[in-house]
This record gives sequence, C-alpha cells and structure tokens, in this order.
Amino acid sequence: MSKIVTGEIAEDFANYYYTSEQKNTAVALGVLVNKNGVKKAGGFIVSAMPDATEDELFILENRLKEAMPISKMLEEDMTLLDIAKDITGDINIQVLNQEEKEPKYECNCSKEKMARGLRTIGKEELQKIIEEDKKAETVCQFCNNKYEFNEEELKNLIN
Ligand SMILES: [Zn+2]
Repeated sequence: MSKIVTGEIAEDFANYYYTSEQKNTAVALGVLVNKNGVKKAGGFIVSAMPDATEDELFILENRLKEAMPISKMLEEDMTLLDIAKDITGDINIQVLNQEEKEPKYECNCSKEKMARGLRTIGKEELQKIIEEDKKAETVCQFCNNKYEFNEEELKNLIN
C-alpha cells in the first residue's frame, strides 16, 4: 500500500512506482478545461527498461525536464507518437504492438518462478512448512496471482 503523499496525482503516481515497484518512473498528467468542462485530459508514464544504462537515464531525465508541459501538448493536438518523441528526444522511437491501443500490465510470473523463490528460503524452512502446514501458498507481489504448492510439490523442492 502506498500512501497518497502530495495530492498531486502525477507525483503520487511517481511515488507509487518508486515505493511499490522500486522503479524510477516519470509521470505527467494534464487537464485542459473550458467553460463546458474538461476539454482534454491526458498524460504519460515513462518507465525505464531493466537494461537501460545510467547514461540513457541521465539523458532522458534532462529531456523530461525540458519537455513542454503535457497540457500544452494536448492543446496543440500532438499525437501520442509526437509526444513520445518529444519527451524522449528519440526520433527513431518504435511503437510496439500497434494493433493494441489499450495499454495493459501483464505479469510473467509462473508456478516455476514461484517454486524457485520458495526454494531460496532453504531446506530447513521448507521442511518446517511441510510438517506444519503440508502446503504452501505464494502470492505474486506484482499481480497478486496465487500459487498453491502441495506436500508432494514442496518435497520435490527440497530434493
Ligand atoms: Zn504475477
């Protein structure tokens, strides 16, 4: 659980990413209003891939500081691609998964990965679980998927 820290939604999002996913993430949100209400609203989240270098992050950080406010980008009817080019400074940007317009988070957790994690607690600890509970349940910290391990499976982890 991350607390709402500032009440500035974009900052709170950034804080959420930092505290719950240990990821430095830039978040910008903007809303344009006129007398009829909300005219445009939009935003972006920039998150580094695990193989990003320090240099790349440094360039991106500076670029983000210089980028136009998102509300101005919305006002100028910039396309998502143009916004992405502007905030990254990368004109060779590639759009992955073009037919998929809805962004979604997917977790690549699996029972095997959970088993590997369980194994790290050590044989003694696993033995104790087998004796006391005869089963174990692990929960993925990213997607909350639950994985059950029965006695047999736990014994296999020890061997
Ligand atoms: Zn997961």
